[in-house]
Formats: sequence, structure tokens, C-alpha cells
Amino acid sequence: MHPGVPGVFTLQTDMMKGRIEGEKRVVELMIRLYCRHKEGNSELCGGCAELLSYARQRLDRCPFANAKPTCRKCRVHCYRRGEREQIRRIMRWAGPRMLFFHPAAAVGHLLRELFARGGAPAHRRPSA
Ligand SMILES: [Zn+2]
Repeated sequence: MHPGVPGVFTLQTDMMKGRIEGEKRVVELMIRLYCRHKEGNSELCGGCAELLSYARQRLDRCPFANAKPTCRKCRVHCYRRGEREQIRRIMRWAGPRMLFFHPAAAVGHLLRELFARGGAPAHRRPSA
């Protein structure tokens, strides 16, 4: 998408609003969904709880605050390797299911960004 395209700008400003909070909420929902339905736990298990607090912590410390792109596109790869694999697996599983379980929270554009193309080009050089 090109920044000059009409409509894109308003969409982006909208997306920047509360980006971090929104991402936190979606991450939490996804982890819970995964833990309950995929792992079959009635309560969030230890591993998932840890991953969730880790993810929240990363978002809290995100240097881009609300002006950042989604984590998938972020050039700062702040997740540790293990956690990144884990969260990626969860998102891949939970992403499509979010539309059924949490249609309101499954913010269309956020999910689209997360799944636009798996395996973020981690080493694409930022132009700035
Ligand atoms: Zn779990």
C-alpha cells in the first residue's frame, strides 16, 4: 500500500490510536483461546501465562509506543527467539479462530497484518 492512496491515511491514524492496548488485548485473547481449545486447559496454564506476561512486557517497553507498526512489521525484533516461535505458533492457530470466538476483537486490519504473509522478513533493511 502506498501512503499517497486516499483512505489509507485515515486508516493508519486510526490504527495508531491505542495500538499498544489493542495489541495487548488481541494477544491475550489469542493466547487464552489457544490454551483452552488447543491445549485443552480450563485455565491458562503456566507456560501460556508466562508467554502472555512476556508479550505484555515487550509491548510496554516498545520504543515506538503507539506510533509503531504491528509487531510483525516492526524492525526491532524484541522477542527472544523461543518466545517468538511460540507466539507465532499461537497466532497462526488462533488467528483464524478469533473471527468466530471474538469477532468484535478480531480487528480486521490487525489480523490481516499479522497474517498478511507469515514469516516476517526479519532482516529486511529499514529504509530510514
Ligand atoms: Zn497453555
